[in-house]
Amino acid sequence: MHLWTCGSCGKCYPEDPALWKCPCGGPFHMNFEPARLQPRRLPGRAADQWRYREVLPIHNWHERVSLGEGLTPLVGVIHKKIPFLAKLDYLMPSGSFKDRGASLLMSFLASRGVRGVVEDSSGNAGAAIACYSARARISATIFVPAQASPAKVRAITAFGARVIKVKGSREDVTAGARSASVRDCYASHVWNPYFVHGTKTCAYEIVEQLGWNAPDWVLVPSGSGTMLLGLHLGFHEMRGQGLIETLPRLVASQARNCNPLERFVAGKKFRSSKPTLAEGAAVARPPRVAEMARALSESRGRVYSAPEEKLLPATETCWRYGLYVEPTSALGLTALEDLAQEESLDGRKVVVIFTGSGLKFSG
Ligand SMILES: [Zn+2]
Repeated sequence: MHLWTCGSCGKCYPEDPALWKCPCGGPFHMNFEPARLQPRRLPGRAADQWRYREVLPIHNWHERVSLGEGLTPLVGVIHKKIPFLAKLDYLMPSGSFKDRGASLLMSFLASRGVRGVVEDSSGNAGAAIACYSARARISATIFVPAQASPAKVRAITAFGARVIKVKGSREDVTAGARSASVRDCYASHVWNPYFVHGTKTCAYEIVEQLGWNAPDWVLVPSGSGTMLLGLHLGFHEMRGQGLIETLPRLVASQARNCNPLERFVAGKKFRSSKPTLAEGAAVARPPRVAEMARALSESRGRVYSAPEEKLLPATETCWRYGLYVEPTSALGLTALEDLAQEESLDGRKVVVIFTGSGLKFSG
């Protein structure tokens, strides 16, 4: 059993599926010291994220809830004469990187005998939780915004989950799930600390795929920050174990219509967001925004936001490269253009994470 520590007041609690935040309102972190990962032991292991089992906080990994997620391709692309490596994290069982965290989180909940979960999501996390709930034979109810992409809602329903559409803001959707969590466990991709231990495997994969070398820059679309925080945690752990020497510099990318991290870093107040094509990153008040800002500052990173009119052309450019992603994923490409304006990327290893599949895009 692990202890969970509140990131705001520092109080510790034994982990518990029914706990999702500290009574003070703060989000939890897991007290977990990973065992030593030895790269020479990996070649004989399955090609999924569980090959890094030493660093995952699951005791009975033989009973894991898994569909072989992870070890997604890392392929070279040249965009406007800028060479970079595309991490194809949309090639997952439910079509987004969220399967990494959903696999860890549902493994934990299943091991504790949880029979029903609720989650709130703009689409991808809901599809991932529904998918892994189906795998674990746990019932799932997913609260989504009324305007969520029909294709994402269809995926959630296909996995057998109940979908409840909520009118209003993204925060109203969250409130709906919380009120339902009195009966069922709130399997939140944002609040539950298991989730980020799944997304961190993306960092381990990148380093393994680069021959146990760290990239110089990693660019990622950021809404509630689960991938950004996972990357930071993974690289941080690897540096602690001597697997890499320096932390890659992280770049978070947001839509200008919903850019709370950019505003937080600049010392500005949150404001209500406007609609954006990058619906996967449209979170007006991310609960872990202070952690996200810390991940950027510790890695000497950046945050950029893209004007709305750039999103569809950038998405179509991805498609022309053979990357069938949703518009949220194109935020990585717009951030690459912004970064190249400010930094020389000659000879640098730059990785862009492509987070969600175009197959769930209804536009
Ligand atoms: Zn607290």
